[in-house]
Amino acid sequence: MRTTPDLLAGPLFAHSPDAILIADTNGMVLDVNPAFTALTGYTRDEIVGKTPRLLKSGHMSLEFYRTLWQTVLSGERWRHDILNRRKDGSLYWADEIIQPITLEERGQTVLVSFQRDVTELRRTREALDEEHARLDGFLRASPAVLYVVPATGATQPIFVSDNVRDLLGNVPAELLSDPCWWLERIHPEDREAVERTLDFHRWPEDTLLRRYRLRHADGHYVWVEDKVTVVRDERGEPRLLSGALLDVSREAEQRSLLDKLARHLPGVIYVFKRTPDDHMSFPYASEGMRRICGVDPEAVREDATPFFASVHPEDQAAMMETSDHSVATLEPWRLLYRHVHPDGHVVWAEGEATPERQPDGSTLWYGFIADVTARVEAERRLREQELLYHTVLDNLQEICYVAEVTPEGFRFQVGNNRLYELLGIAPERWIGARPRDIFPPQTAEHVEKNLRRCLEEGRTLRTDTAMATAHGWREFSASLTPLTDKDGTVRHIVGLVMDVTDYKRAIRRAQEASRIADERAQTLGTLLNAVGEGIFGIDPEGTITFWNPAAERILGYRAEDVIGLDAHQTFHDRLPDETPYLRDACPVLRAVREGRMFSCKEEYFRHRDGHWVPVLLTVTPIPGDGAVAVFTDITELKKMQEDLRRQAETDPLTSLANRRSFFTALLHAGERIVRHGDRCAILMLDLDHFKAVNDRYGHAVGDAVLSTFAAILRNALRGNDLPARIGGEEFAVLLPHTDLAGALALAERIRRAVANYCRVPMHPELRMTVSIGVSELLPDDPTPEAALVRADAALYLAKQEGRNRVVVA
Ligand code: GH3
Ligand code: MG
Ligand code: MG
Repeated sequence: MRTTPDLLAGPLFAHSPDAILIADTNGMVLDVNPAFTALTGYTRDEIVGKTPRLLKSGHMSLEFYRTLWQTVLSGERWRHDILNRRKDGSLYWADEIIQPITLEERGQTVLVSFQRDVTELRRTREALDEEHARLDGFLRASPAVLYVVPATGATQPIFVSDNVRDLLGNVPAELLSDPCWWLERIHPEDREAVERTLDFHRWPEDTLLRRYRLRHADGHYVWVEDKVTVVRDERGEPRLLSGALLDVSREAEQRSLLDKLARHLPGVIYVFKRTPDDHMSFPYASEGMRRICGVDPEAVREDATPFFASVHPEDQAAMMETSDHSVATLEPWRLLYRHVHPDGHVVWAEGEATPERQPDGSTLWYGFIADVTARVEAERRLREQELLYHTVLDNLQEICYVAEVTPEGFRFQVGNNRLYELLGIAPERWIGARPRDIFPPQTAEHVEKNLRRCLEEGRTLRTDTAMATAHGWREFSASLTPLTDKDGTVRHIVGLVMDVTDYKRAIRRAQEASRIADERAQTLGTLLNAVGEGIFGIDPEGTITFWNPAAERILGYRAEDVIGLDAHQTFHDRLPDETPYLRDACPVLRAVREGRMFSCKEEYFRHRDGHWVPVLLTVTPIPGDGAVAVFTDITELKKMQEDLRRQAETDPLTSLANRRSFFTALLHAGERIVRHGDRCAILMLDLDHFKAVNDRYGHAVGDAVLSTFAAILRNALRGNDLPARIGGEEFAVLLPHTDLAGALALAERIRRAVANYCRVPMHPELRMTVSIGVSELLPDDPTPEAALVRADAALYLAKQEGRNRVVVA
């Protein structure tokens, strides 16, 4: 049966690329073309006479088929994409058109279905849609507003993503239509900087990051970060500029919030950047940098040099070293160092930062710098105090140590130098040791027993100990004091130990000495009473405790009169010239006070009847018990000495000073002139024609004349003047406090007196005269004798001029 309409017969039906199926209005398949078989897998024989329901995929809704049939049965054309099933079960999408055709001549309506396989197309379209959706989603989701500008220097974009609405409140169309829109919206303060970036040929790289403010449609400004990249074609020619605008107001806000926070932080928080070629900067540093480092954080944003310049010269090497180390190892950086502020004051800083390597090879540190000046200062003071403490400990004469109380017993901690020296051990052996590690068993037991007692009683304990040490057997007086911590537990015991060996030895010696002394006292008493020297004893206050018979004989006091009296006050409180004799100077009292012996060749004690007795005195201190004075009366001795002295200085014939004593006096006078500017004159006298007296009346008469002359001379002088016989019949007079004029007057008086009164005995008719030379001692004389030479020369002149006269040098 062949039902194919003629119309459709022929090559068109057979060669159509579309699958064609013809069915009647009941849905029975009348014919299909080869393209149908190719598409569905059903041959003509397999489908003709069947229903097209064979092709149903089961994925289209009932409603879909209902609409299809309603449309075509009402004579309308139906078209839709439909999912069908092939003979092999696989599915395909077809763009299907069903055209109802009425065949007039047959009075029959057939339905012609044209199917085109659109599976691939749909897949592509879906993929495209997906891509669109993804791009759209990306554009929508991206916080950045993306835009594209032709690489011509124009500022008008050819594309702007939708979300520009969120950023600036404008739709893309507004931007795309206004060539000046963008530049005009830039904040006036930022515009100049942005305009400088417009020529992309001058960019160092193809990508540029700029930051500026853009005006929102509602008038407020938005901080944006604008990252633009030059897009080049295959030949490298710039085609487009593709940009992304990111709203960084929040970040800027956060940054300012961070700044505000940071301002209140005691330290500096910062981000430090170091590029592979060692360029360093602080992209962020809080205000504290100004205070702690003395550096403006803005000044180091691009270049960290000012920061490093502020680091103390002695710390710069460490700063670089630690920074290098942190770069190399990515270990945290940490350093204690100093900043020198512009005004010169120094701040101790402690910095620490965590490094993070960036994709471009540079390193970022997130860090914190704290001002630790106060801490360093406190530590320094602590160290000083520790040093002081140790110095004190080590210079302590006492032995000092600390013992720690542990559950296992006592362990020594600190000791001082005295301790180590005494035990002859190194501190390392002492610290941490138990008593039995240091001392022999018996001593260790004793030490531990005392420590335990101190611990149990909870108070300072004093003990006496003796033990063998590096310096032999020593005796000690120790005090142990428990140290309680906050909760009242005793954790340490401080031991202070005094070496009392020498002290005790001295005490024992003194006791022994006193015993011997007691024994001897009686013998001594008898002895003291018998000796010829005066002996008295005083107690430490100077009160007489003992007085022997010889003392009684010499000073006239009886023992019962003076015992109990103050010795110094009774007979020793004045000097022979009646000036006070101070107690401080008294050798008897000094012997007591200074604990040493005094010997005096000449002291004066006052006799009970008031006259002064010269004594030879020896005072011996008795430790802790005053002193004993032994004295000898040297009155006779003194008298003999005085006579001898006088004889040695006096001319026996005239009783005037002799030549030797005159020259001594002359020497002293010379010194007085030089030292005190005193004035002093001398006379040289020589009797006239004396030889004749001798010759005529004999030597004895001559001597008598000399005596007479001496008497006249002495008579004419004042108390201080010193007449002397310096040669046979040559005399000289020293006149202290006298100038030439005074001396001349005096010389004249002498000359007259001699001429008037000097006679030769038994021959009163023979008058003697004298010639006198006068001179004054001068400060610049090499020796005082020079003045004597001048006086002698004047005397010689006086003789030459006729004698019995006075001549001034
Ligand atoms: P002129 O006026 O020049 O001094 O004459 P003069 O005779 O005094 O001479 P000169 O002074 O040289 O004489 C000194 C004599 O004094 C010489 C000596 O005999 C005498 N003479 C010296 N010493 C003594 C003495 O101790 N006793 C006595 N009787 N005569 C003495
Ligand atoms: Mg003479
Ligand atoms: Mg003479």
